[in-house]
Amino acid sequence: MKNLYIDFDGVILDTNTVLYEEARRQEYDIDDNEFYEKFNFKCVLKDRYIINESIECIKALIESKKFNISILTHCNSLKEGTDKVKYIRKFFKDITVIICPKAISKTKMVHTEDSILVDDYVGNLKEWEEAGGIAVKFSTDLNGKGYKVIDRLDKLLEMF
Ligand SMILES: [Mg+2]
Repeated sequence: MKNLYIDFDGVILDTNTVLYEEARRQEYDIDDNEFYEKFNFKCVLKDRYIINESIECIKALIESKKFNISILTHCNSLKEGTDKVKYIRKFFKDITVIICPKAISKTKMVHTEDSILVDDYVGNLKEWEEAGGIAVKFSTDLNGKGYKVIDRLDKLLEMF
């Protein structure tokens, strides 16, 4: 069974679009910590932001028994991490969720060698490959930027 790590923001839920809009509206730089300290992440943890049936797709991946699945998500604060875990637990009572501090590479949190990472951010995928992992880009317009690419998580079943 291959280890499969699934990113949250931009793969399971489209949190980024709302977050970036809100930062712009409040005239914050998107990397400004002050913005994240004030932002109530619960506002974007809504079912209407689910991307391409991601929750149903993860259920299909679990059922296939092909992968050892974890959700690996960068978080700006413990509160954000807590809210994300609570949201994910609405759908999955027994999936592994790993909260990665924003300043730490995902490669420093888990076993990378021969493990799959699905992520929408090329920076994470580049680090992942350099650490011996298998990188898959998630992109709703199938823009792989040189990586294997999927726009639905259940496409992993055909790919591996
Ligand atoms: Mg992401």
